[in-house]
Amino acid sequence: MIPFLDLRDAYLELKGDIDAAVLRVLDGGWYIMGDEVEAFEAEWAAYCGASHAVGVANGLDALVLALRALDIGAGDEVIVPAHTFVATWLAVSAVGARPVPVEPDPVTFNIDPWRIEAAMTDRTRAIVPVHLYGQPADLDPILALARPRGLAVVEDAAQAHGARYKGRRIGAHGDIVCWSFYPGKNLGAMGDAGGITTDRADLAEKVRLLRNYGSRRKYVHEVAGVNSRLDPIQAAVLRVKLRHLDDWADRRRALAAAYGDALKDSGLILPRVAEGNQPVWHLYVVRSPERDRLMGLLADAGIGSQIHYPIPPHMQGTYAGLGYAPEDFPLSRQIAVEVFSMPMGPQVPPEAPEAVRRALERATTRA
Ligand SMILES: *Cc1c(COP(=O)(O)O)cnc(C)c1O
Repeated sequence: MIPFLDLRDAYLELKGDIDAAVLRVLDGGWYIMGDEVEAFEAEWAAYCGASHAVGVANGLDALVLALRALDIGAGDEVIVPAHTFVATWLAVSAVGARPVPVEPDPVTFNIDPWRIEAAMTDRTRAIVPVHLYGQPADLDPILALARPRGLAVVEDAAQAHGARYKGRRIGAHGDIVCWSFYPGKNLGAMGDAGGITTDRADLAEKVRLLRNYGSRRKYVHEVAGVNSRLDPIQAAVLRVKLRHLDDWADRRRALAAAYGDALKDSGLILPRVAEGNQPVWHLYVVRSPERDRLMGLLADAGIGSQIHYPIPPHMQGTYAGLGYAPEDFPLSRQIAVEVFSMPMGPQVPPEAPEAVRRALERATTRA
């Protein structure tokens, strides 16, 4: 049996250190913000090569507060990938702006920079590339479109902890970079957690205000903020796990390479890495017109697989009001019916790729 992901394995590997970190917070008697949060923010900013990091409650809030810090709201349009996890769109809707989808590059599954210009209007305020599955989006052409027009670039890096674009870690290429530390992400807490990184002091300061009731000093409120603080217990856990992030990314890379070898003659379309990218393999996503049948065969062999994502945002009920037809974004629609993800993670056994190969091979000979 190879589950798609078992989060307990990650905990067990670091149990001693994680338990000690959690107990340190419990024992310290300080349960909101404080030293542990500040220490994680400093360590995360340094790791990402960004001037500032601000912890928040989750990845969706990181996106929402980043857009709010940029004063994006009602009447504005924000360019988003048509193929992404729905949170990217929900953040735009949450601030009252309109998500404007752009189809992916069929090779990387990331937003296709060459289709962005056609989606711009005089209401466009920002572009939100997502580094999907752990592979950086092609940021240079996106920045080249945004900068001369005064548009903000807000990166959704929820799947890209430690990934590199042209040699430099994701963390401050765009105006502001949004992170999720949801347990299943490459850097995951033991509950909800999120954050932003940026080189812009003005944006860091605004997110700092917004996450804590719009207050710099207790009981003095400058803006209508929210309660979206990073929990110090989660910060303490993240500090432990951050020390292992690169090692765990190496294990993911080794597993991805092994999948590439094992599945090269499988007939599946395997993930491809764009030149200049060093992905961190949040997911190992393959593609086949026979997806549903193949997933059934993996399940029969006791191997977990999942779909990221089965329904594109423009076809979700929540976005019926935008008036899109399914065929308006045909690539995203096609990807949603053909992709599936293999077991991937630092604790996934190294024999998983070979087990997948055998399960699928047995299938083709039987057919
Ligand atoms: C996980 C994820 C989010 C949201 O993060 P939460 O912490 O679950 O709110 C946003 N965007 C993408 C691409 C994600 O994968």
